[in-house]
Amino acid sequence: MKPCEEREVCIVCEKERRDVLHILDQPICTVCEQDIAGVNVSDLAYDFYIARLKEIW
Ligand SMILES: [Zn+2]
Repeated sequence: MKPCEEREVCIVCEKERRDVLHILDQPICTVCEQDIAGVNVSDLAYDFYIARLKEIW
């Protein structure tokens, strides 16, 4: 039995990954998540994601 290989595209680096988290309902890979987690997540991530989401939408 194969594990389910669900891939999603990280909204930050835009790479297809299997190990993604969902932050603010958006797929974020663990690499980017760790980058962001090094700083103040609640402040920085929020601003960052809003900026990204504005680009996408
Ligand atoms: Zn990423």
